[in-house]
Amino acid sequence: MILRQFTCRAVVNACTQARIRRLAGSREMAKPSSDLAAFRDFFAKAENIAILTGAGVSAESGVPTFRGAGGFWRKWQAQDLATPEAFSGNPSRVWEFYHYRREVMLTKDPNAAHKAIAECEERLGKQGRKVTVITQNIDELHRRAGSKNILEIHGSLFKTRCLSCGHEEANHKSPICPALKDKGAPDPNTHDAQIPVEQLPRCERAGCGGLLRPAVVWFGESLDADVLSRSHEVLDSCDLCLVVGTSSVVYPAAMFAPQVAARGVPVAEFNMENTPATTHFKHVSFFALFLLVCGFPLQPFLSLHFCLRFHFQGPCGTTLPAALARHKSEPN
Ligand SMILES: [Zn+2]
Repeated sequence: MILRQFTCRAVVNACTQARIRRLAGSREMAKPSSDLAAFRDFFAKAENIAILTGAGVSAESGVPTFRGAGGFWRKWQAQDLATPEAFSGNPSRVWEFYHYRREVMLTKDPNAAHKAIAECEERLGKQGRKVTVITQNIDELHRRAGSKNILEIHGSLFKTRCLSCGHEEANHKSPICPALKDKGAPDPNTHDAQIPVEQLPRCERAGCGGLLRPAVVWFGESLDADVLSRSHEVLDSCDLCLVVGTSSVVYPAAMFAPQVAARGVPVAEFNMENTPATTHFKHVSFFALFLLVCGFPLQPFLSLHFCLRFHFQGPCGTTLPAALARHKSEPN
């Protein structure tokens, strides 16, 4: 009985895999390549490059994320404080957290990956070619490295939004207001500063004076519609897509990479991990079978899991400069 189940499953699974291959096309289905020369051939011809970047790029500059094991500020992690509810319940504590993060950024610098992206944008720009960074990072390290064409889908630590008039603006003051000076220590024994709300950062527009909040996208909030639509425009027109410091199968790249791959545009992943697209193939096959049996369409799922043409494992600060360096076909 058990043997028959295994045999049936093996046969059905083989059929499913064949169907997946037909649906996905042989190129997407193949194991992602780590052939740098082959990637460089696409890079040399690309006119419009989209680069999606995630936390891994910032991590290589030592930027804390306050998520995962050991990622605490006092007793909390980002998901406890980066919410509208946390801010309305205790704006002083949330501002201490963001003030600390802003001050920490004064001690961090763009790394070789940020610099390679910025240098590539400038160099290709002179050739009439375009590079756009779509980042989930809020630390402005891309900007500091020299990138100009940036879409910050989660906003910025260095922008504020007024809760009264809605005005949003850049703010690089240190400290952001006198009452937060020397506050925000991350030690778990630190007591809340309990700063009165009128002494927290306030709007400086004439006649307003409303409470400011960090202009970042908090948990439970939607992405900015304008930034999102501009991101989709970039992804609909790019002819090469890089996914850097995040996985192509987790948010936010999973939201974007499939739409690129669906047009047959190469997607290259640069991160520390082994690519899930290859290591999870067996699990994917079983899940695909389940979808087929339940009558769900396979195409969106396939493009999500098999969108990778290339995968380069290692620190982005090592892999990216080699990938984006001047190609021999480029003018000097
Ligand atoms: Zn205002």
